[in-house]
Amino acid sequence: MREEVTLHGIVLSSSLQSEYDRRMVVLTKERGRITVFASGVRRGTNPLQSKTQMFVMGSFTLIPGRDSYRLVNIDVDEYFHQLTMDIDAYCYASYFCEVMGFMTHEGDRAADYLNLLYVSLKALEKGQMPAKLIRCVYEIKLMDVFGQGIQSFHCPVCGKAEVSNVFDAASGGLLCDGCKGRAKHPLHLSDDAVYTIQYINGAPLGKMYNFNVSDPVLAEIQLVSKQFMDMYVDRKFKSVEIIDSLP
Ligand SMILES: [Zn+2]
Repeated sequence: MREEVTLHGIVLSSSLQSEYDRRMVVLTKERGRITVFASGVRRGTNPLQSKTQMFVMGSFTLIPGRDSYRLVNIDVDEYFHQLTMDIDAYCYASYFCEVMGFMTHEGDRAADYLNLLYVSLKALEKGQMPAKLIRCVYEIKLMDVFGQGIQSFHCPVCGKAEVSNVFDAASGGLLCDGCKGRAKHPLHLSDDAVYTIQYINGAPLGKMYNFNVSDPVLAEIQLVSKQFMDMYVDRKFKSVEIIDSLP
């Protein structure tokens, strides 16, 4: 018999596999994104039933198989119940999990990814910052954590440590005065928008979700984030259509 392992993670998705069984995708700190089968959890009073839901964070005791894991137990740290009771927050959280599932793979050392997802779900749950802004921060930081971030301190074309207010997704970020004329699709940003992007890139994870911006600046940041994601993430996410349709 294979030995059990204990991995720390968040359930990115959980679907019915059969009448009593669930199939989960879990982002784990130690082994990246893995697939976990939970058999019999929907049977009667099985205590694992409520623990095998989306967003649950905790320590997963598992038996490794050839290309998936079998669930033994979950020691839950967070249920993120709030997210399942507010439909808008639920939709944003689902999107965050879907994007993370696409970006990660089995075998990744995923501590940074997991921390980013955790603080972002927490921010949605607290609800102090508008969800639209949380989404932008998440997207911008996500790209950064995955090594494909918006260049906001150095010109992505020549490397000069000075940038203008001209953003160009194809070039990779904010261009310097010397290079901005070469932007294919220049976006001329306000000073506040530039500062906000630099703040998001520079802030540690624990301080990313403690600010607000005016509506016009939010609109600029949304455009920057959308253009950047469209340029570098080759995927249309199912859940994005839903949140794009929210007021
Ligand atoms: Zn330059």
